[in-house]
Amino acid sequence: MSARPLCVGVLALQGAFREHRKALEACGAEVVEIRRPLDASDSRFKGLGKLDGMVLPGGESTTMGKLLQDWDLLAALVNCGRAGMPLFGTCAGLILLCREIEGPDGELLAQPRLGLLDARARRNAFGRQLDSFETRLDVKGVASDVEAVFIRAPLIVSTGPEVEVLAEVQAGTEKRAVAVRQGNLLAASFHPELTGDLRLHESFLGYCRRWRGRKA
Ligand code: GLN
Repeated sequence: MSARPLCVGVLALQGAFREHRKALEACGAEVVEIRRPLDASDSRFKGLGKLDGMVLPGGESTTMGKLLQDWDLLAALVNCGRAGMPLFGTCAGLILLCREIEGPDGELLAQPRLGLLDARARRNAFGRQLDSFETRLDVKGVASDVEAVFIRAPLIVSTGPEVEVLAEVQAGTEKRAVAVRQGNLLAASFHPELTGDLRLHESFLGYCRRWRGRKA
């Protein structure tokens, strides 16, 4: 087995990218902050295709989506995701992965996004009273007590047949998905990078390891 560390990109246009960097490095990965499709300033890295995976952090999804377009990254990331590169979206990153995005009242929003995850996200879905909160979640395949910090978080309100729900919360009278997987795509409504709990990042690095084995 190769001892070379996994090399993971973190989208660094806006939002909580430094915290993801720290969490991934604490798991033993090398991290490259991505602002351009070809970041010639980093000698370890020549093009997104060389990465073993990519994290889309939390932040503000409309701002990040516009910056993705302005920096010619949107199409490049869609191509990576379609090719099978693992993508992990948290909070705003989850929103960017989704095929459909709605506002807190259910109105469809036409904001830029990757659209690879066959799911519909509702932005700021917890309302004002629950702007931010912490809880422990049973995340399928990861652990039954994953620390989860929600900050103006989205919920997943519908999913297609290929999407596996990994964790849910009670939202009003319904249970709603807050962590899902679809093949190489992993998405969480919460911020695993803001806790000391690295288990979701470790699980994502498992995806990256398998992808590196396949593309090698
Ligand atoms: N509310 C933000 C949005 O809709 C997401 C919040 C977050 O990433 N913490 O884009």
